[in-house]
This record gives sequence, structure tokens and C-alpha cells, in this order.
Amino acid sequence: MRIVLANSVGSVGMPAAVEAIQSDRPALDVVELGIRPVELDPGVRSVGVGGWPNLLGEVELDASIMDGRTLRTGAVGALRGYVHPISVARRVMEELPHVLLVGDGAARFAAECGAEAGETLTEEARVEWEQWLERHIPADVWKRWPDVPLAAWARLTADPETAAGTTTFLVQDGRGDIAAGVSTCGWAFKYPGRLGDSPIIGAGGYADNRYGAAACTGMGELAIRASTARSVVLYMKMGMTVEEACREAADDLRSLDRRYRGGVTIHAIDAEGRPYVLAVDRDDVTYWVWTEGMEVPERREADRA
Ligand code: ASP
Repeated sequence: MRIVLANSVGSVGMPAAVEAIQSDRPALDVVELGIRPVELDPGVRSVGVGGWPNLLGEVELDASIMDGRTLRTGAVGALRGYVHPISVARRVMEELPHVLLVGDGAARFAAECGAEAGETLTEEARVEWEQWLERHIPADVWKRWPDVPLAAWARLTADPETAAGTTTFLVQDGRGDIAAGVSTCGWAFKYPGRLGDSPIIGAGGYADNRYGAAACTGMGELAIRASTARSVVLYMKMGMTVEEACREAADDLRSLDRRYRGGVTIHAIDAEGRPYVLAVDRDDVTYWVWTEGMEVPERREADRA
């Protein structure tokens, strides 16, 4: 069944994704075309341009994409200076023998591909970063910033009040092909070089035509430790419904000890394109869905676990 499922911040990408799926574009294109507007919108503070910087004031972007037909995948982590990490991730998948590039290597490859370079740190995000530092860092430390040990301040960013976010798109096209894509700046003021679940295939995203796809938002460290996206798909392979698979993965997440903040939202579709979204230890989570026959995408509330 044709379907586009995006998380709440994916709303700005839904029109492009729906237009693409209605024009019979393949699932991978629909995922990429849906995520690109989210990455470009400075109002979406957790993805692409306008995303929160790390502790050093640098925006480091993570993204991954997966093709459920072939189980091929590409990802970038801690990419700086490029506005569409999802497109660079796709080029990694299509042009390299690798699946994941990070940091300078990812930026070098982005340049080689002719990816769109651009400033990703907006004035608003820079001011928020400065204000956060001023609020939390004693003046004597601030004076020496950034030539100070950063670990103690990174621990502070794990407070639930520090913002985070990601966009996820899961698509099944008219041929039954499935794709998953994820893009984020990670959590605000993170330790430089920190990767969350989004660029880690099997954690932040996974797609397999035979069983379905899953993608996560929330505390990436938990989704990495529990291999959440791959687990959901594997549970479906073992015969569970999409809802049962998400609930089983939620139990896995809950069995982890949690020293730091953390809820995770699991977005999933099965091989027939049936959607299910489960917010694990998070409140008021919504998502967007478009399926065959809908005039416009619908906003729905996630179930809670
Ligand atoms: N999952 C993202 C990360 O850990 C952040 C989020 O979705 O809130 O980088």
C-alpha cells in the first residue's frame, strides 16, 4: 500500500513527499524529497539549517537512508557545512563501497559530489548556544572556552530540558518498495563528534521490503544500545504485527538502565504499509501519515508505552 509516514517535525516535507509518491516516484526519492525541505527550514530547530550546534558552537549533522529492496544503505555523521545530509547519505549509498562517512571525510565526499554547501548555524541558534553557555558555565571557565575539558558540560546537556529532535520518513511506493530516511542535528550542545542513532543503521533507521521499516527519534544512545530500528523489523520477521514489534522493542528499551534523560519514539510500517507509532516514555507525540486515497496528510497521535 502506498504510504508516507513522517514524524511531527516532518510536516514541512509532507507536501513534497506526497506529491512525489502520487507521481509514482520510487520510495527512496520520496524519502529524500520529503526530508530535504525539513533540512532547509531554519524554523525546524533540530534538523539541518537552523539546527542546534554542539558545545563548540558548530552544527554537526547526521543522516541515513536505506533501500528496503536491496538492504543497501548510506549515512553521514558529524557533517559540517552542507545543508542536505540526507542527499549526501544517499550518494554514500550509491557511489561508495562504504556505508558511513563522518566528519571531514564526509564533508570531503559531499564536496566531491557537488552537494549544496552552506551556513547551517543561524543567528538564532548561535544566540541560544551562547545563552546556554552563559547560564551554565562559570565565568572563569567561559573565559578559557573552548580550551577546557568538555565532558562535564556535555553531561549537563543530557538534561531533559535541553532540546533535541530529528525527522524520520518511512515510505512504501506503488511497487511495494520500502525506504527509510532520518536526518538530525542531534541534541543541542552535545559533545563534538557525538553521533546519535540517526546515522547508525539498525538503531535510528532500517528498511527491508520483506518485513517493513522502522525509524526512531528521541534519545539516540538508547536506540543504539537496543538496536531499536532493526529489532522492530526483526520482530516482524518473527511473525509479530507492527504494533507487537514496536511494543517488544519498547520493552527492550525499558530494560536498559538510564542514567540520563530519555524517551524514544518508534515509527514503523509493515510490509503491507500498515503504520504504527509508539512513544516510549514520552508524552504528546504526534506524527503525519498519508495513504492511498487521502487528499491531504493526517496528523495522528502516537500510542504510548
Ligand atoms: N535521536 C536524535 C539523536 O539522538 C535526537 C532526537 O531525535 O531527539 O541524535
